[in-house]
Amino acid sequence: MTEYERSGHQLDHAAQVWKRDMAQVERWHRPKVSWPLPAVVDSDRTWPHRILSMASGTSTARLSRIESRERNSKWPNVPMYIDMSQCINCDACLRACPPNFGAIFNHGIDVVILPELCSGCDKCLEPCPVDCIYPLLAGEWQPAPDDWWEEPLSANDPYV
Ligand code: SF4
Ligand code: SF4
Repeated sequence: MTEYERSGHQLDHAAQVWKRDMAQVERWHRPKVSWPLPAVVDSDRTWPHRILSMASGTSTARLSRIESRERNSKWPNVPMYIDMSQCINCDACLRACPPNFGAIFNHGIDVVILPELCSGCDKCLEPCPVDCIYPLLAGEWQPAPDDWWEEPLSANDPYV
């Protein structure tokens, strides 16, 4: 093999390694879409729309909740909250939250769950390495503070 051919092979190999690494990075950053569908779904949507909207935080139902700042009254489960005294800011919960709910955000140094957007589907519980996500008692959750609402649909919204 000539020096020229050897250089070509080395370049091909480097390109393949680069492509593989880029694919890995792309997989890491791809939002997780939970499957099967969560037990709690947007009850105001029909099945085909539910499936299509799973991959997007811009579903009509989520946009409507963000605009009205109201929780879907048909959701049977209570919303979750994060005990920040235990949280290690790993973002595993944020990645596990289905985009059509899209309820968990980095807010300053905190990780917060907007109860109005949280269906209580439980998808965030298992990935949390320190078990610091808890259900709020029925009827006891408080509306999210105004400054938390700066996150949905902002550049910091991981679900859009
Ligand atoms: S329970 Fe967790 S995963 Fe489900 S909507 Fe609420 S914050 Fe998101
Ligand atoms: S998974 Fe748990 S520890 Fe990690 S950011 Fe979410 S609440 Fe915090």
